[in-house]
Amino acid sequence: MNGKQMEFRDLKRQYEKLKESIDRMMQEVVLQAHFISGAQVRELEETLAAYVGVKHCISCANGTDAITIALLAHGVGAGDAVFVPDFTFFSSGECPALIGATPIFVDVEQDSFNISSSALEKAIKDELEKGELKPKAVVAVDLFGLPADYDRVRSICKKYGLLLLEDGAQGFGGMYHGQRACSLGDISTTSFFPAKPLGCYGDGGAIFTDDDRIAALCRSLAVHGKNQDDKYDNVRLGMNSRLDTLQAGILQVKFKAFEKYELMDINEIASYYTEQLRDVNGLSVPIVPEGYSSSWAQYTLRLSEGVDRAAVQAYMKERGIPTMVYYTKPMHRQGAFAGTRSAVADCPNTELLCRRVLCLPIHPYLTKGEIELVADTLKEALER
Ligand SMILES: *Cc1c(COP(=O)(O)O)cnc(C)c1O
Repeated sequence: MNGKQMEFRDLKRQYEKLKESIDRMMQEVVLQAHFISGAQVRELEETLAAYVGVKHCISCANGTDAITIALLAHGVGAGDAVFVPDFTFFSSGECPALIGATPIFVDVEQDSFNISSSALEKAIKDELEKGELKPKAVVAVDLFGLPADYDRVRSICKKYGLLLLEDGAQGFGGMYHGQRACSLGDISTTSFFPAKPLGCYGDGGAIFTDDDRIAALCRSLAVHGKNQDDKYDNVRLGMNSRLDTLQAGILQVKFKAFEKYELMDINEIASYYTEQLRDVNGLSVPIVPEGYSSSWAQYTLRLSEGVDRAAVQAYMKERGIPTMVYYTKPMHRQGAFAGTRSAVADCPNTELLCRRVLCLPIHPYLTKGEIELVADTLKEALER
């Protein structure tokens, strides 16, 4: 490493490889000067809809707006309970709360990091019994790139008449029993934040649905509640949430690499990490159940009870290897929910994961030598 810090997700290396096409695309967009709603935006939406296998892709400004717009389009609001995993990025619960609904935080499974279907059904029954809120939707998150258990979650949603929203911000590119992530909910969302599996050079997001009416509603909500045919006839209140043309162009270039080799390469890299680490004492490697594939937004280990995580991180950092902890705090303990119904949750697995997870550097351009260095350094740290 020559005393240099390794990148956690090396976007510079990706740019070096794609430089020619990205530079050409950026120049093209600038010369055309259609910075908002240029042709590249619709082209990208069509490409991504076809890849994911749904009828409509509606791009927007970021993955958080995508969730908000999807919930608004389904009429979620005050008085509604929205069931959200307790172990996730803040947006998954922030969006329902921001539009007046009450997120109810549900525990996850320790090995998949995703929402537990038994905890979900129990939480729904509890809310029905209390009778204060109307159970309305489930936000299932594809955490770290691995799809949630959609057969189980979907059957619970059917049983109780709930909307299933797939928060695929980390899941784009994953598969679940032959179906692509971002096609697994009644409506699905993703993020193009630079460090996500498919990232742009700023903020970006998208919504995926097969429903023509909901798609039209989302398009309207994303642009000031505009009438479908007349931009200056505003038929509802909406947002200003567009993916700009430059980002769409960059995503077109990046998507080609993503589809052609990046997704395959990152899966090989994850397998090589697992090969290096699966027999090491003091940790558990991430699982990919039969019938699933991950897009590896993160490679997340669980350290055993008694391992000093901070000391492991410090040891690795001294040797130029960055590590991260996603996430340090359960959703129901976030300050924003203090004193609200959302702060009441019984989620022992989430509590444990927040104390024990550790994410290693991962991206499609990591070399075998770097993986070995990370794995060896981690082993040293654990043996001390
Ligand atoms: C990143 C992320 C989001 C939000 O995406 P932004 O584009 O940053 O707004 C939502 N949910 C999850 C699970 C995420 O990881």
